[in-house]
Amino acid sequence: MSTALQFDPIRLPPHCVELRKEVRAFLRQEIAAGTFDPHGNESGDMFNRAFSKKVGAKGWIGITWPKKYGGQERSFLERYVITEEFSAHNAPAKLHFTADRQSGPVLIKYASEAIKADILPRITRGECCFGIGMSEPNSGSDLFAASTKATKTDGGYLINGTKVWTSNAHQADYMIALFRTSPATKENRRHGLTSFLVDMKSKGLTINPIYNLTGLHDFNEVVLENMFVSDGNVLGEIDGAWKQATSELAYERSGPERFLETFAVMIELVRVLGDKPDMRAAEALGRLVAQLHTMRRMSVSVNGMLQAGKDPTVEAAVVKDLGTVWEQKLPHRARDIAAFVENDDLRNRAAFEEQLAFATMIAPKLTLQGGTTEVLRGIIARGLGLR
Ligand SMILES: Cc1cc2nc3c(=O)[nH]c(=O)nc-3n(C[C@H](O)[C@H](O)[C@H](O)COP(=O)(O)OP(=O)(O)OC[C@H]3O[C@@H](n4cnc5c(N)ncnc54)[C@H](O)[C@@H]3O)c2cc1C
Repeated sequence: MSTALQFDPIRLPPHCVELRKEVRAFLRQEIAAGTFDPHGNESGDMFNRAFSKKVGAKGWIGITWPKKYGGQERSFLERYVITEEFSAHNAPAKLHFTADRQSGPVLIKYASEAIKADILPRITRGECCFGIGMSEPNSGSDLFAASTKATKTDGGYLINGTKVWTSNAHQADYMIALFRTSPATKENRRHGLTSFLVDMKSKGLTINPIYNLTGLHDFNEVVLENMFVSDGNVLGEIDGAWKQATSELAYERSGPERFLETFAVMIELVRVLGDKPDMRAAEALGRLVAQLHTMRRMSVSVNGMLQAGKDPTVEAAVVKDLGTVWEQKLPHRARDIAAFVENDDLRNRAAFEEQLAFATMIAPKLTLQGGTTEVLRGIIARGLGLR
């Protein structure tokens, strides 16, 4: 089906501006107290349980969710502001972020009342970490080729197979994972996968760390051997997970975290250029700021559309494609812009080089996680009726 791209021209309302001030004041207070270093290159404790609990106490986790599950019934635009400030400040939000962004909304839609009443309030209090078990050694982009098998047994399923690149698994309390409950059919190759809620302490579940280029431990291999999951932990329709995955991806792909992961480089670039950059540097920096501003407007627009109950799947894919390619190129652009700047302030230069080195090493992953550039462009092309 062909649709035109639609980015509603939404601006953040005044109460979001007030909320931004509140969030900034909180983050500055935490930085001053030594809770985290905004220039810390993720070397500190990014899964900071005490910090997540403070964020939960502020009411900033699951802010859009129903009050009866611990949420605030506030808007996606308010959530946008919180995510943007946390990302730009490099705040250690990994413990609650995945649950806040996508696992909680999946539970709200598909989990039993008992699971919702138990887990959602714990997420909003900052006490619960989630992972996403989609990718496997032989199925990444092609999610629906997943082969980890769920075999029916008394009261539930026995799971056998391997998930890979599972971010947070070593910290997570739960993971939402796709398992094969039936073979695909001739008519529908996406048929046969079911979404499950998995307790990470389950017998038969082994987590093997995978270290990334920077030496940090973010993702893992998760091996499942005769792991039991009860019937009550099935999320949604058996064999029909393909109908559920797309709304989750709109949440995953549209946020400001999709263009702010190397943002610290830009801050340090501004410091290195100083308050009187030459014409060439000023123009190059201005171009970067204009591009960033445009992406912010697009991301705000998608969040406004989510708030309005629309389905901006294609627009979210556009935000992620433009955003991740931009943040991936940022370190190279910043290096070029700063190359000929004479700067006596060695401290500024050292901080810039440090951010540059870190951002250069994480850059390759930015266009892979959450769906590769090629896959996103396929989705956009389909949305535009081009394939
Ligand atoms: C930092 C990081 C964190 C991650 N965290 C998680 C996580 O928490 N949970 C999880 O489940 N997964 C996670 N992933 C996995 C991620 O979703 C996959 O890496 C991604 O979907 C690509 O899959 P793949 O690595 O198997 O590559 P492949 O799917 O094998 O792709 C290889 C290449 O082929 C291209 N390609 C594939 N299919 C097509 C197509 N149809 N059209 C055009 N080109 C195509 C791709 O663009 C890519 O360049 C993470 C990945 C990274 C890098």
